[in-house]
Amino acid sequence: MSHNGWLKDSNVLAKDAYRLKNLTNLEMFFGKIVHELIEKILKNFLENDTVPNEDSLNKIIKNQLNQGFWESMNSKLLWEMKPKHYTMFHEIYYEGKLMSEKIEEIKYRLNVCMKHFLASHTFQEIQSRNKTEVFEFEQFRSMKWNGIKVFIVMDMVYRDLENNKWIIVDWKTGKASDEDRGQLALYAKYLKDKFKLKDFSEIEVRNEYLLEGFHKTYKLTRHDIENINFVFELSNEKMSLLLEDPIENKPLDLENFEKTIYESKCMRCNFKELCEMY
Ligand code: SF4
Repeated sequence: MSHNGWLKDSNVLAKDAYRLKNLTNLEMFFGKIVHELIEKILKNFLENDTVPNEDSLNKIIKNQLNQGFWESMNSKLLWEMKPKHYTMFHEIYYEGKLMSEKIEEIKYRLNVCMKHFLASHTFQEIQSRNKTEVFEFEQFRSMKWNGIKVFIVMDMVYRDLENNKWIIVDWKTGKASDEDRGQLALYAKYLKDKFKLKDFSEIEVRNEYLLEGFHKTYKLTRHDIENINFVFELSNEKMSLLLEDPIENKPLDLENFEKTIYESKCMRCNFKELCEMY
């Protein structure tokens, strides 16, 4: 629906959908800040050999959270005009406030995530410079799969030179889930194709759980790879059925999209305003 919604002469529905697509929530916003900060810390370490202290990092995150909250409360008009440049929390847009339990949860995450990052297996390993080679972060932002551009964000890729392994790292600021491994299988497929690796056994995938302070490293099985191929083909097929013009990525009219029967999903949905309007 949000197709071309960023253009001045788009229709109202596309503009509204694009705007709402850019709503965020407290957990997502926190995760984004932490990911961006970790990338900066790693780049800075690789260039200057410096490691910041935990307090200074927590302060940066806290300031950005406050800024996001302030913008959500006070800059609605600016956000409506430039939704990518300003922050609007889903909770504030729809409810006018943040729930106190959510604020407490984010305060807890703020207290532990950077501590766990600094002590993480990955960051410790990166600091043994002669044993690792870190790849530029920017080259892992999107991939092509059977001619289709897929936007992925691989947090980090490096080589363990001692054991001749490629390591894909994903930083998690939420709780561990069963789906974490599947997402990493998609990244591994991309890496294997991009660097023409002989086999998946050359790759290890790792989730670093910053909230809980542990990591899980896996080798992918044939089942993981078959599963990710299947899931990708299936979701691609489903999406194609909802497009009027696949080349232009133009969707069918709104009435072709069925509403969910699960009301709990609607509570968290960015687009619920449109559902009520159209
Ligand atoms: S039916 Fe619910 S989940 Fe689906 S678009 Fe509408 S509000 Fe969102």
